[in-house]
Amino acid sequence: MRLSLRYPKRPSWRIAIATALLTASALLGWALLWPDSSCAQPACARQRFSIAIEVDALQQVPVIPFDVPVQGQSVSLRAIMSGGGIDTAVTPDNLDLPYKAASGPLDRADLYRFAAAWGSKTVPSDSDAKVYALLAAALVSDTGEPLFGIMFDVKDRQGFAVAPPTTAHQFSERDPDAVPLLQLRTFAHELLHALNRRHFDAAQMSDGRLTLEAPTRCISERERGQWFLREPPLMDISPATIRFFQTAASRDILPGEKSSPFSSRRASPTECDELRTRTAEDPARTRWQLAIRRLHKLFAIRSAAAAEAEQAEPSETEQTAVELRIQAMPAAYPLGYPIAIRVLAQNVGDEALPIKGRLNPSYGVVRIEYRRAGSEEWSVVEPLAWFEPVGDEYAMLSPGERTEQTVPIYFGDGWTFPQPGDYEVRARLQLESDAEDAASEPVQIRVVDAHTPDDEAALRPLLNNGRRLNDEIGRLLSFGGRIVSEEGLTDLEAAVDQHGDTALGSALRLTLVSQRLRPSIDPLTGERPAPDLTEARELLRDTCTDSGVAALKKQLLERHAGGIPSSLSNRAETAATAWDGISSMRGDSQPTYSDAALQAWGPSLHFCLNESQMREPLRAAIPRLAKELQRIKPTRVVIVGHSDYEGSCRYNDTLGMHRADAVRRALVAGGLRIRRIDISSLGERRPLDFASSSAAHDLNRRVEILVEGASPDSEPTAAPSRLAPRCLPEKRDAPEDRV
Ligand SMILES: [Zn+2]
Repeated sequence: MRLSLRYPKRPSWRIAIATALLTASALLGWALLWPDSSCAQPACARQRFSIAIEVDALQQVPVIPFDVPVQGQSVSLRAIMSGGGIDTAVTPDNLDLPYKAASGPLDRADLYRFAAAWGSKTVPSDSDAKVYALLAAALVSDTGEPLFGIMFDVKDRQGFAVAPPTTAHQFSERDPDAVPLLQLRTFAHELLHALNRRHFDAAQMSDGRLTLEAPTRCISERERGQWFLREPPLMDISPATIRFFQTAASRDILPGEKSSPFSSRRASPTECDELRTRTAEDPARTRWQLAIRRLHKLFAIRSAAAAEAEQAEPSETEQTAVELRIQAMPAAYPLGYPIAIRVLAQNVGDEALPIKGRLNPSYGVVRIEYRRAGSEEWSVVEPLAWFEPVGDEYAMLSPGERTEQTVPIYFGDGWTFPQPGDYEVRARLQLESDAEDAASEPVQIRVVDAHTPDDEAALRPLLNNGRRLNDEIGRLLSFGGRIVSEEGLTDLEAAVDQHGDTALGSALRLTLVSQRLRPSIDPLTGERPAPDLTEARELLRDTCTDSGVAALKKQLLERHAGGIPSSLSNRAETAATAWDGISSMRGDSQPTYSDAALQAWGPSLHFCLNESQMREPLRAAIPRLAKELQRIKPTRVVIVGHSDYEGSCRYNDTLGMHRADAVRRALVAGGLRIRRIDISSLGERRPLDFASSSAAHDLNRRVEILVEGASPDSEPTAAPSRLAPRCLPEKRDAPEDRV
């Protein structure tokens, strides 16, 4: 009876068990074998690409270990990268590249030349791409800031360099055991950049350690001049990077001719704090771990260690607050070169931020964007090199403090402005990931086509056969002329000789100056030629045809201030006078066009050659202008004088000042009663038309009026946009009369 009662139940019990077992094994089978389409763990990474790395080391720089024993286990570059599905083969070159310690640290132009001379171009047939890596004694940015690494562009965007002795030097006192691991870490980090990976992919693991994408400075600390690690370095790539390597198109990952450029937005002023708010679960290294994790996830069981991966928690850091402004020449020389952008930043928050001297896009904090007028999409100016600073302590901008830099943007991915037209340019600064970026107001610039034979001739050295801007020259300009040997500069020298007066000529001239002041290391001898100060001095004579050029010149001379006689550097103007002009004969400056509170008002008032007195019909128009200015009640008026570019910089500064003063006196005599009327002169640095024609010169000899705090309908009624004088039949002065 009991049996008979139980008997019928037995099959269903068995079926239940069998079903449960079947389901469980199906689930386990799924968890173990089913491909993970959004793979973010080493356990599920399939091998996608193979990369051959050629490593060259400069003389006296030992090749770093690519396999480091740590507590009985080994950490290798190969294992790290295979965690993401990239098979790496490192070929250390047995040659030591020639290098003399007296040549000093390498910058990106030096690296470029080494790579061009020693990087062999043949990719092993079984690898998908090749990366060229250089180990150097010491690396510096364009401004001389010490670096751990540079990711630099060797045409196919495939080079990077690390400075192993720098790591050893920084950490040897307090953390000597960590040095080999840190060197390997820096190498792997720069390699990840070469494969388009960014700092913002970095994540923090449950034990507090940051993945490899985080810069070394985020895991280290400095105390009394000595470096030590905040935590043992984690030699893992982040889940986001694994997912990227597993899913992205090959042109986004592999360096090479057809690849996408490495992406910007690598850093932010608060990135180290921010990276620590991005937590990821510990990587699953075996398929079994991964399977258990998938099952847990399926049943919504959360293990204690596994926080929700990659979920940025609300940041506890202060809201980053930076006011960003940019300034640029409103009009540009035929086809837009030179273009230099003045980036101004003020820290308006309560915390110091590491952005001083780091406004150049190469640091990845600020990026420059541009677009054709009327277009929706912004394009990013991609720098030709990325810098990996050693530490932030020299770059801290205190609350309330301002900093500025003038940045040349000759070259993005190709020339920035390859065609004539109206463009908008702006700067963006990446804030915390959950906050809005700080963006500057865009500035308008006009890129014009050559319209006189003189312009055509000046432009010719920049054009290729198809009348397009020549990429090689663009590259040469953006490397300051320092990536070719002396013979390669003949064309530029000829262009400077013939068109030295033009804005373009000035930019080319600056390129030559840069090459003369710091010639790049000869990659065949390892020696850096001595600077040619005599020629630099000759080239620097009177280079102020454009605000951007003047400001770049100032930065260039500042950079070399230690190594050049002061008679040379004294010729530099300040960035403020380059962009805003001088406001007194002592050379003081006040914001003019960079002052957002000031608005242009009324017509421009023009002058005859070499004159500062007003002629008719300007004189007759002044009382009416004075009355209208009086009516709109501005709190302040700034009168800015300009000149054409004939004659010396200093002469033209004075001439512009006299013109501004003449207009001020006439307005006051005409009845203008305002307490603050300031005058300023930009001399020849802000032309309306860069052409060398006499029509262009007529246009550039002018005074412009800026007002602050005017009432809304502040434009003068039915005024012409410019008032031109009736000049006497032109008799051109001999240049020596005007110097
Ligand atoms: Zn980096």
